[in-house]
Amino acid sequence: MKIYLASGNLNKKREVQELFPEHTVVIPKDEGIEFDPEETGTTFYENSLIKAKALWEIVHCPVLADDSGICVDALDGAPGIYSSRYAGPGFMKGKPDGSKTPQEDQNKFIIQQTNEAISNGFKGGRKAHYTCAMVLYMGPDRLFVCQETMEGEIIPDIAEARGSGGFGYDPLFFLPEQGKTAAELTADEKNAISHRGKASRLMKKIAGDLL
Ligand code: IMP
Repeated sequence: MKIYLASGNLNKKREVQELFPEHTVVIPKDEGIEFDPEETGTTFYENSLIKAKALWEIVHCPVLADDSGICVDALDGAPGIYSSRYAGPGFMKGKPDGSKTPQEDQNKFIIQQTNEAISNGFKGGRKAHYTCAMVLYMGPDRLFVCQETMEGEIIPDIAEARGSGGFGYDPLFFLPEQGKTAAELTADEKNAISHRGKASRLMKKIAGDLL
């Protein structure tokens, strides 16, 4: 089945295609569709639903949406839903002009801010998690939602960033059980334990024969 993914992120498209090999995953720009809905929600789930519904209203075909991000305990769960726009201290929700901060800088800032929070007395350690809220939208009367996480830690120094797999914050997201960062995992290894992998498998269970 052809499934539209409500995203412009090619890394998400790659991972979602790996996770749904039985389907053909298409993103709006593959078909020249302009798609940039305003993510006005206050939660991953709300933003995922906004994206799924907005694309369904254009294509009227099954749509999958993934709203995801990294939540750092020492930063009270930030940057969370603002992970793609996060631009460091003072710009937790992104720059006012909407400009995108290079991933390398986002990675440095998140380590710096975590270290600062810990030296200012935060006692909960370096724990963080990724969250993925996935929506399968097949029409206003038929939609499915699930949300999953992957637990890890923020490395203490950018010099310890490792790996070239995955994307985004993966080189600084350390998985104690694996003794590796998420970027050091193969695609299959990441999909087996990731927030997106878990949400995808759950979605297949929930949607049953429809997916
Ligand atoms: P969204 O497109 O608004 O859902 O933003 C997702 C953002 O969260 C991405 O741009 C990344 O910064 C971050 N993110 C989500 N999932 C992952 C992941 O699997 N690895 C690394 N970063 C991720």
